[in-house]
Amino acid sequence: MGVFSKIISILNQDVHDENEAKKRTVIMRYFLCLFSLYFLSLTIVTGILRAPLLPFVCGILFFLHLGLLRCTYMNRTKLVVFTVQMVTYLWIVSYVVLFGWNCGTQHFLFVLLLLSFFSGYYSSKTNVILALFYCLSRLVMYTHCQNADPIYPLNFTISAIFQVLNTFTIFAALTLMIYVFSKESIETEKKLVSYNEKIQELASKDPLTKLRNRRSMLEYINHKIETTGNSASFCLCLSDIDFFKKVNDTYGHAAGDAVLRAVSAILSDFMKNRGTVSRWGGEEFLFYFKEDNGDIVFGELEKLRSLLSKTSIEYNGNSIPVTMTFGLQEYDSNQPLDYTINHADKKLYQGKQTGRNKVIF
Ligand code: GH3
Ligand code: MG
Ligand code: MG
Repeated sequence: MGVFSKIISILNQDVHDENEAKKRTVIMRYFLCLFSLYFLSLTIVTGILRAPLLPFVCGILFFLHLGLLRCTYMNRTKLVVFTVQMVTYLWIVSYVVLFGWNCGTQHFLFVLLLLSFFSGYYSSKTNVILALFYCLSRLVMYTHCQNADPIYPLNFTISAIFQVLNTFTIFAALTLMIYVFSKESIETEKKLVSYNEKIQELASKDPLTKLRNRRSMLEYINHKIETTGNSASFCLCLSDIDFFKKVNDTYGHAAGDAVLRAVSAILSDFMKNRGTVSRWGGEEFLFYFKEDNGDIVFGELEKLRSLLSKTSIEYNGNSIPVTMTFGLQEYDSNQPLDYTINHADKKLYQGKQTGRNKVIF
């Protein structure tokens, strides 16, 4: 393993799952590494250039950040976040007062602002108050610098070094936070969308036949009626498999399920461009035909009835014949939906009474 990947694995240590708190801990570690590097670079460069006070202060801050980094391995992230915020705020203000506006540390207030929001430890109200506080602090520092000279003015070279290091560190810190949290929110959103789709599917589909269930079918028809107002026109048909109990009794319940699945596939395929079909209950199906002319639909259903009566369902070496009886009714927009369904049901009953395997209109 290379040195780089070793460092990464140490920083990612203890993150075994998608636990958010651990994610925050890891981000804080990256953050503290970045700040440690920032102060180490400043210590070295200002030391070489013999700048006043700076190497000493930056050296202390370097070790302080290393200490905070160590604390993140002791399950103390909340304390670390709070301490980092306090320490960062204090050194921002001290640096501006000591070394002047040109040292540019006031820009780190933006990093602090994002850190408060993304840490997730504070309420929205606290975050807004912090944002106002940082904003005011920046204005106060600016006013101070306009009226008072820095205690240790920086020469041109050290100012330039500050600007370069600040720019790199601030951009890296902001990129790190925004990258991690935007990725997380996009992933969460994707998960929610897919959960939602799954829930919708579970709520609207019959698990055995994969057809619409009764609730979803009623919603579908009512939606059609609502969107077309008084002029809604279509046909409904209630159908039922003949002597289905015999299938269960002869071949077993699993064979009955297989027949239901196979018949449903045939019905669904048949209804593809004609409308839709649902499992109304047990071995009963409700059809919605876009076509409003009952005579035309009657012809279509006759084709389906004939197709079914010529089809046998193969199950475990058995060939199971199936027939169905259909009750067809045109929708009457002057009556509630139940009226049409009840009439289709009566016709289905009539079909059963008069020999089955037929369409009654
Ligand atoms: P008819 O021609 O008069 O409709 O006779 P039938 O035997 O089909 O009617 P009946 O209502 O007496 O029986 C329906 C049977 O359907 C009874 C029930 O056990 C069975 N059934 C209902 N739902 C399922 C299911 O999901 N799987 C299986 N295997 N059987 C089911
Ligand atoms: Mg039946
Ligand atoms: Mg039945």
